Amino acid sequence: IDLNATTLDALPDSVTTPTYDRTAVTTGIVHFGVGGFHRAHQAMYVDRLLERGDGDGWGICGVGVMSSDRAMRDVMERQNGLYTLTLEHPDGSRETRAIGSIVDYLYAPDDPEAVIERLASEATRIVSLTITEGGYNFSHTTGEFLPETPDVAHDLEEGSAPRTVFGLVTAALRRRLDRDVPPFTIMSCDNIQANGEVARAMFTAYAKLKDPEVAAMLESDVSFPNSMVDRITPETTDELRASVRERTGVADAWPVVAEPFCQWVLEDSFTLGRPPYEHAGVQVVDDVEPYELMKLRLLNASHQGLCYFAYLAGYRLVHDAARDPLFADFLLAYMDDEATPTLQAVPGVDLGEYKATLIERFSNPGVRDTVPRLCAESSDRIPKWLLPVVRDQLDQDRPVRLSAAIVASWARYAEGVDEQGQPIEVVDRLADTLVPIARHQREEPTAFLANRSVFGDLVDDPRFVEPYVQTLAALHSVGARATLEGLMEARG
Ligand code: NAD
Repeated sequence: IDLNATTLDALPDSVTTPTYDRTAVTTGIVHFGVGGFHRAHQAMYVDRLLERGDGDGWGICGVGVMSSDRAMRDVMERQNGLYTLTLEHPDGSRETRAIGSIVDYLYAPDDPEAVIERLASEATRIVSLTITEGGYNFSHTTGEFLPETPDVAHDLEEGSAPRTVFGLVTAALRRRLDRDVPPFTIMSCDNIQANGEVARAMFTAYAKLKDPEVAAMLESDVSFPNSMVDRITPETTDELRASVRERTGVADAWPVVAEPFCQWVLEDSFTLGRPPYEHAGVQVVDDVEPYELMKLRLLNASHQGLCYFAYLAGYRLVHDAARDPLFADFLLAYMDDEATPTLQAVPGVDLGEYKATLIERFSNPGVRDTVPRLCAESSDRIPKWLLPVVRDQLDQDRPVRLSAAIVASWARYAEGVDEQGQPIEVVDRLADTLVPIARHQREEPTAFLANRSVFGDLVDDPRFVEPYVQTLAALHSVGARATLEGLMEARG
């Protein structure tokens, strides 16, 4: 049975469906970047609110700006915004629900004017984003906005029809200013540290070049709540489409699968109101930072702690590695000994339980996250997620042995050859620089670490260099598995 508004009442019992009247839902949120994550996360929370009768006026209008979003536009049209979300439990059981909160979808290249008008409408009180890190258009080296990106440069031209989120939002805020309609809140839900602040900086930088009055408004009158978001949501594959259809009898052209765990910690800063998100399980707080650091240093850094050792030991699926007690123990040791001492108190969170849950989440076979995915773009990830732990630990003269071992495992992986002599495809924007350096570290063990644009001055600190060089030597002589065993034995 095809999924759309006319079949909703006739879906099999294997799929739960909205009991609220979708035709009565009006939109208060315009969302850019309707991908897997938004549909597993914010749209699910809003669906929960609508189901409880708490979501009046907060339906979602999705917007796509990329040419790759054309496929989503077609599915959204055909299915009236409906899609299924399947939660994969670690024990192999599954729950599927048709999510009803996206009640409208606009594809900007078809009609940018319609998007601007929707954004300018008084009913629009929140503009939310999951546009990936690339969508914020900042330089990896300086962090500055990049006005020369072709679509941005096009939008900056006088009289052009906007193509980017920056062009569309700035044009809409201009209309609100002219019509005396107060500005909406801009809520980033991307996985970027201080995502609200980054969004403010980038939208303001664009507007300064296009419409300085709007820039002033973005700086002082628009709120940009920071948030921490978490739910592992793999990409939708054909295999998944087929399996949803087979298991539930529902033909959904773009289903989403995710883990059951879901977290959203959100700063309470909304000038035109917000849905009562807390009724749907969102943690609404004054300061997101402690939660953010907890996630980056425990979850994200542990992913790096796992992936290189796992790859070198022959694992290709994350859950297989996480179910290996040697790997799980190593991650817990890193988290307990080195990451946790650097965290602030995290109100309402039991860190011991959070860490145990992390190992359980990594071990979930339903998610089928891959080791190579975690190994990609290491030179962006290690400096943001792991090196801050190292620096904080060194500042306090505390141990960094396991963090140094993780960095060494990356250096060994970056040689681009595995323990069987097979090539490794190193996916990293710095691969051309890093791989050749890694290849001569057998002669010069600190060669990789000497890359100061990635590691700063760590190579000058013997407290880090010593355990790093030791682990690297062990990786070369006995391989990943025996190296981990040695590290755990030494810990006692
Ligand atoms: P996805 O590829 O399914 O969707 C990405 C969406 O972003 C698409 O709609 C795409 O058109 C849009 N986009 C990309 N570049 C853009 C640009 N320059 N301007 C406007 N829109 C742009 O990816 P996803 O899994 O939905 O992840 C999106 C983001 O969500 C991630 O980058 C991350 O910040 C956050 N996130 C994802 C996960 C996850 O497990 N997938 C978990 C936490 C947070």
